[in-house]
Amino acid sequence: MAKDISRTRKRKKIAVVGAGIGGLVSALKLASDGFEVKVFEGSDYPGGKIRTLESASGPVNIGPTVLTMLSIFQSLFKEVGENIFDHLELKEQKILARHWWSDGTKFDLLANKDDACDEVQRVFGAKAREQYIKFFHSTKEMFDCFEQPIMKSSSPSALEILKAICKKPKIIPALVPFLTLEKYLKSKFSETKLQQLFGRYSTYVGGSPLHSPALMALVWQAEARGVWTVEGGISSVARAIEKMAIDRGVEFIYGHRVTEIQKSNFLVDKISLDDGTSHEADAVIFNGDPRALATGLLGDNLQNIAGITRDANRSLSANVWGFESNIINKNLAHHNVFFSDKVNSEFYEIEKGQIPLDPTLYICAQDREKPNKAQKTERFEIILNAPPLSKRKPNKEDFKICKSVTLERFKNFGLNFQVDLERKNLTTPKDFNILFPASEGSLYGQSPHGMMATFQRPKSVTSVANLFLVGGGIHPGAGVPMATLSALLAVEEMKASQILM
Ligand SMILES: Cc1cc2nc3c(=O)[nH]c(=O)nc-3n(C[C@H](O)[C@H](O)[C@H](O)COP(=O)(O)OP(=O)(O)OC[C@H]3O[C@@H](n4cnc5c(N)ncnc54)[C@H](O)[C@@H]3O)c2cc1C
Repeated sequence: MAKDISRTRKRKKIAVVGAGIGGLVSALKLASDGFEVKVFEGSDYPGGKIRTLESASGPVNIGPTVLTMLSIFQSLFKEVGENIFDHLELKEQKILARHWWSDGTKFDLLANKDDACDEVQRVFGAKAREQYIKFFHSTKEMFDCFEQPIMKSSSPSALEILKAICKKPKIIPALVPFLTLEKYLKSKFSETKLQQLFGRYSTYVGGSPLHSPALMALVWQAEARGVWTVEGGISSVARAIEKMAIDRGVEFIYGHRVTEIQKSNFLVDKISLDDGTSHEADAVIFNGDPRALATGLLGDNLQNIAGITRDANRSLSANVWGFESNIINKNLAHHNVFFSDKVNSEFYEIEKGQIPLDPTLYICAQDREKPNKAQKTERFEIILNAPPLSKRKPNKEDFKICKSVTLERFKNFGLNFQVDLERKNLTTPKDFNILFPASEGSLYGQSPHGMMATFQRPKSVTSVANLFLVGGGIHPGAGVPMATLSALLAVEEMKASQILM
């Protein structure tokens, strides 16, 4: 009997549109379950926003640079019969991030909890230590409370969330309507620098601390649970998943965009590519920005799918530099944040559609991990938050502004890159919109601002029974682990539905 089911399943064809992490994970899981899977990817590499730029010193990471919430990936590998450590060289980081301010303050947020408390006290004093301990516990409670009923549920139910809150009543003060993350942090820390530091975590899901709900304070707990670097960068994760999928029979078709997902008799049944070919499918998983469906990029018939994303506010975009330069004589960690002088000024500027002139700069010094003594250069990624295209139309001066702001800010911190930054080194909001169609350059889907934002994100299940959505624009949210979870949830929903029986 079981044999018959598996034979029936093998005949079912699944088309996955997009080889971002969500598409890759869906393909791997479905192939492991015996489905016939084809992945159609517009670009020529697996990983989507997990990207690299070629340089003489090797590939420079210009997307995510570390892995968090490792347990999600460990169980993914285990579920398909593999051990993650056989595929990836992972190294847990002792320093979650090194933080710098222009008054000379330097602060390492450490992974070990006791060491972290000591470091907070050393840099900011005994009161800050007490406040940090309390903050750590309350954000951990929030994370634990919402992990199951929100992050690991394909369709969060108000009742389940309420039950979870009742078990952890201490988190209720963070749920006060209209309490923003900025205000919440002011009530938690007397030290402005710590307010600034923890407020920044809302940008990891595309929000500003000025408008994100206080609950966003839990985002940093993803890092508090451990940060891992991966040999070869996060692209190694995408490539490992692609390889495991290929080993299980998945076919990858790169270099062609899907131009239409055809629907007839209430179900999708075919996809068309920009080379004029068509491919039949019993079900389709869409890993692009869901707004592409809502705006009709994949056909007029699907505009009601993820319709909310058409006009919803967008999350932050970014200007992202990738380059190699002379070795910098500064004690950088892998993850570094150089803060703006005026707390939150960049978010006011972004709100007004401006390129921030005093931005907080993130810099990944990817070679610090394993310095190559023979090498004369090292590779860097710099990220500056930026407004999405819905707030700022591209302007030909943008590159010049961005370059001078970046280099000037770093000069203030004593970092002099000897590099002639060229246009090819920068990915702008406009470039992101081209790479990820209909995204408006937003890197994290629709805006996470407002108490109800979580509930307003498109879900993996759609009104078309055999069309599913995965990725950072879908519930439970943006980031590599969340996009992975969205794929796992979608596959579960697909298998539970009668559609492939
Ligand atoms: C600079 C930067 C830094 C980041 N840092 C972190 C970090 O430190 N930690 C973290 O967890 N996350 C980080 N993120 C976010 C994380 O990278 C994303 O949330 C995640 O990778 C999104 O995955 P996804 O499944 O949504 O697919 P995406 O990466 O969005 O990929 C979608 C894929 O679909 C393809 N596609 C779309 N439409 C079509 C079509 N019509 N036909 C064919 N193909 C199509 C695209 O070409 C693309 O390859 C960062 C992102 C960026 C840009």
